[in-house]
Amino acid sequence: MVRRLLVVFAWTLAPCAVAVAVLHSLWNHDLSSPTAFATAGAFVLAVLLSAILNRPSTPILLTAASTAVALAAMLHLDASDPGALTPDLLALCAIVTLVIGLGTVVRTRLGASAVNVLADGLMVAIGSWLVVWVVLAEPLVSSSTATDITIVRGATLGGSIVVLFLLATLLFSDASPRASTMLLGTSALIALAGFITRAVSQRADVVLERSTVASIFLASAVAAGAGMLHPTVRDAARPGPLRLSPPLTTRLVTTTVSLVAPVILLALTDPHDGRDRVVRAASVGVLAVAATIRIVQSVRDNARTQDRLVRNALTDPLTGLPNRTLMLEYISESLRSAWRTHRRPTVLFIDVDRFKNINDSLGHSIGDDVLTHVATRITGVLSPSATVARIAGDEFVVLDPDTESPAQSVSLAERVLDALREPVRTAEGDMFVTASVGVAYASDDHLLKADDLMRHADTAMYRAKGAGRNCIALFDESMLAVATGRLEMETALYRALERGELRLVHQPIIDIDLGIVVGFEALMRWDRTDGRTVAPSDFIPIAEETGTIVPLGTWAINDALSHLRRWIDTGVVSTSTTMSVNVSARQLVDPQFVDAVSNALVVSGLSAEHLWLEVTESVMITETAQTLQALRRLNSMGVRVAVDDFGTGYSSLSMLQRFPVQCVKIDRTFVQELGDERETQNLVRTIVAMADSLNADIVAEGIETEQQLTQLAAMRCHRAQGYLISPPIAAEHVPAAVQRIQDTTWV
Ligand code: C2E
Ligand code: MG
Ligand code: MG
Repeated sequence: MVRRLLVVFAWTLAPCAVAVAVLHSLWNHDLSSPTAFATAGAFVLAVLLSAILNRPSTPILLTAASTAVALAAMLHLDASDPGALTPDLLALCAIVTLVIGLGTVVRTRLGASAVNVLADGLMVAIGSWLVVWVVLAEPLVSSSTATDITIVRGATLGGSIVVLFLLATLLFSDASPRASTMLLGTSALIALAGFITRAVSQRADVVLERSTVASIFLASAVAAGAGMLHPTVRDAARPGPLRLSPPLTTRLVTTTVSLVAPVILLALTDPHDGRDRVVRAASVGVLAVAATIRIVQSVRDNARTQDRLVRNALTDPLTGLPNRTLMLEYISESLRSAWRTHRRPTVLFIDVDRFKNINDSLGHSIGDDVLTHVATRITGVLSPSATVARIAGDEFVVLDPDTESPAQSVSLAERVLDALREPVRTAEGDMFVTASVGVAYASDDHLLKADDLMRHADTAMYRAKGAGRNCIALFDESMLAVATGRLEMETALYRALERGELRLVHQPIIDIDLGIVVGFEALMRWDRTDGRTVAPSDFIPIAEETGTIVPLGTWAINDALSHLRRWIDTGVVSTSTTMSVNVSARQLVDPQFVDAVSNALVVSGLSAEHLWLEVTESVMITETAQTLQALRRLNSMGVRVAVDDFGTGYSSLSMLQRFPVQCVKIDRTFVQELGDERETQNLVRTIVAMADSLNADIVAEGIETEQQLTQLAAMRCHRAQGYLISPPIAAEHVPAAVQRIQDTTWV
């Protein structure tokens, strides 16, 4: 509130400076006039208020107060004792305090390009000095007989030029201007005009009213008062935030005028005597030096900026390696020069395995560390003619223009993989990093473009990823067909949901001892328009990668629950029957997932206990805070979580304990090996005991023989699902299947 009032006061006072100057020069001749008293009063009040409310730094307060006192005394003595030395001494004092005060402020606000700012300031000051010298100082000095007064007046004019220099640097600096600095700067500039007018009035051939000089200083005092009142004066002597757009035009106009005006003036006037010539020559010399410094600096800055722009456009800022654009150019060049030679350039496409995990779990700065290390390792194993580029986040491309056979290409890729075997040292400790490498080798086809070669290497890299990572794949034409097929599937999958091409099949889960159906697992099927039915193992990974799994998964939960609701309502199954739906990691990190589940429950009218969500062990391993939070929220709603395919991943007991898990599904590979293998039998017994101790249910998957079922029952595994009981079946066949299952005696 007070701050806002002060701002209003300051901006109201600022225009009053002009009014005061006009009024004083029109009606008053001396300092006992009402305008002079009003100004003095307003200034004193402003400084006092500022000292109490704004608390500016001491140098600013002292500068304002002492300059004002010196100037007031000077004006007073000018009237009572014209021609004496004291008023000129006071003027010099005022200039000196101004120089000190402004100097303190300028020091903190020079910004990054201090040399440029100072050189520009110097040009403005020397340019103005030349004009002041020719028009004022030189005639003053040559007409005066009293040497001490002349020295003091000369010093005052010299000091004014320093003030001008400081004001110019303040104007040109990179720091954002503050309102108070602008007002105080304007006040100093008006005061400078006052000093110059006063000096003009001292020339014998000029007649100027005393009140004209006084009115200019009064205007300066009002502006200074406004500056002191503005709350930003508190920080006037502190470095301000950098401006986004430095004052380029102001700088250009001011410096150009400061260069051109004195040159014209010097061309039009002749020096009076030897001293005049020396001063003119020295000043022009300094001006030339300042201008030269400025030009040299500008040219260098420009060259540096251009260099940086080119480098930024063609290299990667993190590793300093070439980027994709530059790499494509290198590849083009190598293909051109390899034509009609034995050389067949090789391109490697290297993708760091599971880099996203490193970034997500350890943070981007460790991720950056890892990438820099990888870049150095790869560079280290390449021949001098080979180049490495970083073309995207964790993707590197190597070009060796000198290879002559696929065997050499593959050995190059092996060297790269070998280079990554040693652990990478990061701030978080040692880390093992692996990569998948795609190798493409230029054929005889001279129409092959750089783009094609890189794409081939990329395609091969995908094959390497698919083959389990940390390996090499050499490109061949058949991969293109696979890649095209995959792309086609990605696009078709996008539309599958809205075209109604997806459906759920249901696999009953039974209670072995009771022989009744206690639940179902919903499994997705994709019926393509060409009549093919695509298995989930073929399209779920693509849906996960592209993110389509999020809407697909939500649809599956809704559809599965609506089916269960119908079967309960029609008495096909008991009211306690459950529905298990598979959920991918990607769905769990979706912020809307929990709401989507609760919405599906509301729509189906079933309670949360009817729904089981199956997550694979891999979800636990790559667990993020979001996954854990989503599962906890679902748990608190009453939805239960099952670990699917248990035993195939690498989860540890501690993970199981940390995860909110209410059911463990033993993977079918164990069930299938049960037969006579004692080891597997012991393992399954251990899993059952562990689930018991965690208070979790246990379901065995993939039961295909009666022997397996009997064995599991003997191991106290009470629930089972598998082809023996029923394969996954379409919803309309469920009632009949349930009937059949419950009519059968299982053990
Ligand atoms: P899962 O969750 O482990 O599902 C069990 C798989 O085993 C199903 O394969 C099922 O048909 C098959 N199966 C059941 N009984 C037997 C048996 O006795 N012997 C053999 N050999 N196999 C049996 P399906 O339907 O091909 O599903 C494969 C995987 O795809 C599922 O494994 C699940 O991880 C995923 N999936 C299926 N539907 C969805 C879905 O809606 N969302 C998500 N995220 N994943 C799904
Ligand atoms: Mg499952
Ligand atoms: Mg499973």
